Amino acid sequence: MATIVHDFRSDTVTRPDAAMRAAMAEAPVGDDVYGEDETVAALEARVADMTGKAAGMFVPSGTQSNLLALMSHCERGEEYIAGQEAHAYKFEAGGAAVLGSIQPQPIENAPDGSLPLDKITAAIKPDDIHFARTRLLALENTIGGKVLPQTYVEEATALARQAGLATHLDGARIFNAAVASNRSAKDLAAAFDTVSVCLSKGLGAPVGSVLVGSPEFIAKARRLRKMVGGGMRQAGIIAAAGLYALENNVERLADDHARARRLAEGLARHDGLDVELPQTNIFFLRADPAIGERFADHMAAAGIGVSGRYGQQRWVTHKDIGDEAIDAALDAAARFFAAA
Ligand SMILES: *Cc1c(COP(=O)(O)O)cnc(C)c1O
Repeated sequence: MATIVHDFRSDTVTRPDAAMRAAMAEAPVGDDVYGEDETVAALEARVADMTGKAAGMFVPSGTQSNLLALMSHCERGEEYIAGQEAHAYKFEAGGAAVLGSIQPQPIENAPDGSLPLDKITAAIKPDDIHFARTRLLALENTIGGKVLPQTYVEEATALARQAGLATHLDGARIFNAAVASNRSAKDLAAAFDTVSVCLSKGLGAPVGSVLVGSPEFIAKARRLRKMVGGGMRQAGIIAAAGLYALENNVERLADDHARARRLAEGLARHDGLDVELPQTNIFFLRADPAIGERFADHMAAAGIGVSGRYGQQRWVTHKDIGDEAIDAALDAAARFFAAA
């Protein structure tokens, strides 16, 4: 495999810079399983405050955060509604089913990432001994780099509440959604009972997510976190990176979005590349089948790292992608089409 010089595969590939590492080195710590790590407590309080919830819990990953949310909302034999493309359903190894005995009820996502209201209604089971009890609606924002329309979020969560369902937001990239839509994370989180926020995506921390909700909900989730092995000791070392990221790396997400847009527009100029212009830091590109494989090989040989899955390429901008990386990718693409 060719060496990757400019890494567009994911916003998880960022490395902590010197200032973030200094914050980690200096963090006061304690045993967080005993509730004695003040840096973890500060991070939990900060994310709770930024999302307008009363309590938060630091966890090692977004996958564990979603799992604990699903297991806290749903008992064994109950079900949650989520999109076919939802990370919590499709990309988390079926954890809720395996570890929580929770049945997923997936619904086809609309092109904008939403779950059509009539399909949600149709999927909610009546109280009947034949059915699993429907407990939860789980949405994701951003999803595939797209921001869910806020009016949709309000309608879908109102529908869920009327049917007696709880609501969870996989807000792994909620700050991308907030920056792109010029709303606060608090506004985007307001309609949901619980929210999961990733620190290790565009925010650039090395590890960690925070699950937020009511104090009672978080107390339940804390017991489950211990059960799945997510109780961490002097975790302030990594929580400090999350705090640093929230202080320093939220507003700069706008730069990632602008760079993604310049890159997508540049690539879209070439016949043979079908590019959907990004709303945030992620976009997908489909190359004409006649050139797809050669184009992918050419870009890889030029040191441009892209994830190619499911018949398309996914391009992601992040903290460690600067203007020179965008130029390098556009130059490499231009050389390919000049030679073709
Ligand atoms: C990355 C991601 C997760 C999971 O986070 P990990 O820390 O990789 O486990 C969950 N949901 C969404 C939408 C994500 O992008």
